Amino acid sequence: MSVLTPPAPACITADIEPTGSYARRAYHWEPAGPGRGRLTLTVWKSGRPGSAETAVYEVEETHERDPRGRVFLLNKNPDDPAADTYECFVAADPRLSRCSCTGGNCGAATDKHTDALSDIIRRKGL
Ligand SMILES: [Zn+2]
Repeated sequence: MSVLTPPAPACITADIEPTGSYARRAYHWEPAGPGRGRLTLTVWKSGRPGSAETAVYEVEETHERDPRGRVFLLNKNPDDPAADTYECFVAADPRLSRCSCTGGNCGAATDKHTDALSDIIRRKGL
């Protein structure tokens, strides 16, 4: 073990690219340790002002070895034991990224979970 401990990563609040379905998408990231943290995602449906939908996810990297990218488990609404868990594969090439949520399964061109995680990785928050 090294005695050199990297500084704790800071929280990140940012917007990600809007899509055809969502006029605005934004997230807040609170890191909890290496590969872990709490993600709050808010999306606003196009053409419906004030229609914000927010979900909170407990994020944990699985450390599966894949040279193409990183795998994360997203436990939706951590206080609700019946809530869904999504598996997100965030690839270096965004076209290869996959998510097990409904949007990801339906072959949507973009997925808010992989888009947010990929933005956090780009900003060195994960
Ligand atoms: Zn997803």
